[in-house]
Amino acid sequence: MSDTADTIAAIASAPGAAGVGVLRVSGPAVPAIAQALLGRMPEARHAHFAAFRDAAGELIDRGLLLYFPAPASYTGEHVLELQGHGNAVLLDALLRRACELGARLARPGEFTERAFLNGKLDLAQAEAVADLIAAGSQAGARAALRSMEGEFSRRVDELLQALILLRVHIEAAIDFPEEEIDFLADPAIARQLQALRKQLAELLRETQRGVRLTDGLRVAIIGRPNAGKSSLLNALAGSDRAIVTDIAGTTRDVLRENLDLDGVALELVDTAGLRDTDDPVEREGVRRARHELTRADVALLVTDAAGADEDQQLFADVQADVERIVLVNKIDLDRRPSHSEMREGSWWLWASAKNGDGLDVLRDHLKRLAGAGSGEGAFSARRRHVLALERVAEHLDRTADVLRDVHAGELAAEELRQAQHALGEITGSYSSDDLLGAIFGSFCIGK
Ligand code: GDP
Ligand code: ZN
Repeated sequence: MSDTADTIAAIASAPGAAGVGVLRVSGPAVPAIAQALLGRMPEARHAHFAAFRDAAGELIDRGLLLYFPAPASYTGEHVLELQGHGNAVLLDALLRRACELGARLARPGEFTERAFLNGKLDLAQAEAVADLIAAGSQAGARAALRSMEGEFSRRVDELLQALILLRVHIEAAIDFPEEEIDFLADPAIARQLQALRKQLAELLRETQRGVRLTDGLRVAIIGRPNAGKSSLLNALAGSDRAIVTDIAGTTRDVLRENLDLDGVALELVDTAGLRDTDDPVEREGVRRARHELTRADVALLVTDAAGADEDQQLFADVQADVERIVLVNKIDLDRRPSHSEMREGSWWLWASAKNGDGLDVLRDHLKRLAGAGSGEGAFSARRRHVLALERVAEHLDRTADVLRDVHAGELAAEELRQAQHALGEITGSYSSDDLLGAIFGSFCIGK
C-alpha cells in the first residue's frame, strides 16, 4: 500500500508542446504548497489566476490554480491542480517547485491508487480509468466510461449479494445439525443455486464482450498458402501491409493489423499458411500461427470452392469457444455472387478478396462479434475479471456437486466462501499488494 502520509506530484498532461499543461499534486502538504504559490490560501474549487514563482521569486509561468480540499477530490486527499502553458521546461520547473515545497514525484497510477485506497472508486472502476485513457475506439471508450461509472461493479455486486444470501442459508443449516440434511436437500436451495449460476453465466458472457470492447476483437486468419489470406488482410486494412505473391508460403511470419471498423477495435492477424514443411523459417511461422490460434476470439478460415470441405481440418487447432468463420474466396474466378449462410455452427461467406465482393458483409459480421451495437449497458472489462468469474463458476459447480452427492453443508459453505472471495477480487474488496502493483504500475504517470 502507498504511504498516504506524503504528498505526490506529477505532470498530468501528455508530454510535448500543447496549449495547456497540467501539474497535479495530492496529499497533506497541498494547502501549504497552494498558499506558497498563490501568496494566500486559495478558495476551494475556484479558479485563481496566479503567477507561479520559484524560491528566488523568479516567475516560472502564469496560469490557473485550483484547490480541491479533502475529501471532495479525485484522490480523496487535498488536491492541487496547476494549469500552465503546455511546455516541458516550464512544467518541469513547476514540478520541481512543488517538490521543494514538500511533494515528491508520483509513481505511475499513484493518484488513482490513492483514490482506490480512500474508497473513491473500486478496483474495477480504477482499471476502467486506465482503459478509458487507452481506448482506441468509440465503442471501447464508451464501455470504459460505463465501467468507470460503476456499471460493471454494480453487476458484480448484485451477484455477490445473491451469493451471500445463499451462503447465509447454508451456514444457518450447519448450525442446526439435526435438521441439516433435510434443509440442504430442500429444493429451494437447489433452485437458488441454479438461479445464481444462471446470473453468473450471463455476467460472464457480458464480461467477455467487455474484454473484446476493451482489447478489440482478435481475428486469426488461417488457411492454406495462396488461399488469399494476405490479400484479405490488405483489403480489410486498406493498405498493402502484407506481402501478396503467387509463391506458396510467402507469409512466413505473423502480421498484425489493428483496425477501427466504425468505432470498433479489431486486431487482425495473418498467420502463415498452416502446412507441414521442412523449411525452418516457414516452420517457425507455422508454430507462431498455431500459437495465435490459442489466443484468438475468431478463427477466419480462407479457402476456395474446391478446397472448402477439406480445409475444415485446419480448424483442428482452434479451441471450442472460438468463433469460426469460413470465407470461400476467389468467387470472381467463376463469377459467382457473394452470399452467406450458417453451417453447423460456422458462418460461411462466399467473397472475393480481390475485388471486394462480400467484404462489407464480413465487416458487419466482425463488428457484431466485436460487440458493436450490443447496445446500452455494455461495459469494459479485463481478462483478469473473466478469469475471476470463471473461478466463481467452478466453485458454484462444486457447491452443486457436494450438495447433491453428500449433502455436506460445511463443504458447500466453504465453496461459496471461495466463490465470494474470487468475486471480491474483481472490485478489490480482496486484493494483494502484488495485484495492486501490477494494475496501477501499468497506468501512466500523473493519473
Ligand atoms: P496467402 O498465401 O493465403 O496469403 O495468399 P495471398 O493473399 O498471398 O494470395 C495468393 C494469390 O491469390 C495472389 O496471387 C492473389 O492475388 C490471389 N488472390 C487472392 N485473393 C483472390 C481473389 O479473391 N480472387 C482472385 N482471382 N485471386 C485472388
Ligand atoms: Zn499470405
